[in-house]
Amino acid sequence: MAANPLRHLPSVDALLADASELVAIYGRPATVDALRAALAEARAAGEARPADRLLARAAELLGRPPSLRPALNATGVIVHTNLGRAPLAAHALERARAVASGYSNLEYDLAAGARGSRHDHLGGLLAELTGAETGMAVNNNAAAVLLSLAALASGREVIISRGELIEIGDGFRIPDILAQSGARLVEVGTTNRTSLGDYEAAIGPETAAIVRVHQSNFRMVGFTAAPGLGELAELAARRDVTLIDDLGSGQLLDLPDLADEPTARSSVEAGAHVVCFSGDKLLGGPQAGVIVGARAAVERIRRHPLARAVRIDKLSLAALEATLELYRDPQRALREVPVLAAAAEASEAVRERAGRLAERLGGDVVATTARVGGGAVPLLEIASFACALDGGEAVAAALRAGDPPVVALVREGRVLLDCRTLTDEQCLQISL
Ligand SMILES: *Cc1c(COP(=O)(O)O)cnc(C)c1O
Repeated sequence: MAANPLRHLPSVDALLADASELVAIYGRPATVDALRAALAEARAAGEARPADRLLARAAELLGRPPSLRPALNATGVIVHTNLGRAPLAAHALERARAVASGYSNLEYDLAAGARGSRHDHLGGLLAELTGAETGMAVNNNAAAVLLSLAALASGREVIISRGELIEIGDGFRIPDILAQSGARLVEVGTTNRTSLGDYEAAIGPETAAIVRVHQSNFRMVGFTAAPGLGELAELAARRDVTLIDDLGSGQLLDLPDLADEPTARSSVEAGAHVVCFSGDKLLGGPQAGVIVGARAAVERIRRHPLARAVRIDKLSLAALEATLELYRDPQRALREVPVLAAAAEASEAVRERAGRLAERLGGDVVATTARVGGGAVPLLEIASFACALDGGEAVAAALRAGDPPVVALVREGRVLLDCRTLTDEQCLQISL
């Protein structure tokens, strides 16, 4: 029998004796962990690596933290665009891992034993959940809108209300996205009022589509008017143009608290030919843009050359399909989709969590207002509670420098750790 080469691996203690430099920089516990990890790698490889190589590897493991890494969201903004929007459901993570850790049938038709299309995976499920004939997904909702217009209206006119020429954030403006599609914008109405007659008067031989854009991140009050989607659909059908509805966030369940965000089903039922919405706003899935609608329109969209440039990747597709599966049982979606669970959690439970955190960190509990964020239901105020700490910006900066980093708000000199966007487990990871 061959001698086991691993017998010659040094012990953690022996390595530690030569690791005083690392201990000085990173501390003993982290250095021991890194040495153990370096040893485990050598064992897994079946190699008796020498001490100097193991020490170098430990130094590497201890080195700079990755640039993109987990952070705790203590802001109370549930779909926080700067913090990665929607956390994924466990079911979605498991599916993404299963699909991406090996090969998959991403573009392979298993029944036929021949090439398939990634756009075939979601058609049935999206039809079931929205009432549309079929559906597909692309990289994000901006791409969904861009691609839909490029496929259905390029070189022709698209009618849009002046009240819907919105900026969705970070300088991205709907009119600019529409212009990139090659369609010519025809603006109708005024900022606060647009009538059905305004749309009708603008329809001419060059008109390909009417676009309705949900005013996601703001609301207008007072002297306002806009035709309902059903009226626009009736006009579009009568004048033989396509009606495209950009819902922004949208939602799949008809939750009363979120009534300001239309469901995809309501848009389909009102008669929109193509409905676009985000995968990682209130839907609570991965970054993606969902397109549902009439089979002929979706077919043209998936055949357009730009579809390749904005296609969804397999990780996101896997996570999106699994997230959508949760919606087949609305109760399960409410329990397991993290953004829905966070929005729906009883404020009493949030208060208790804030109480436990305050006791551990030496703060006190204050009432706060949480929000959905991500440009969805901007007026909705969700009763919430935070652990408030003294120390202002200095303490907030220390929390951001922690491991894991914690992002919190500072109000009137106090740091607020809003517990609606923190789990019990995450609270235990916060230290001062
Ligand atoms: C957020 C939003 C978009 C863009 O969606 P992404 O998924 O972020 O690309 C487009 N239109 C509206 C109305 C939005 O609110």
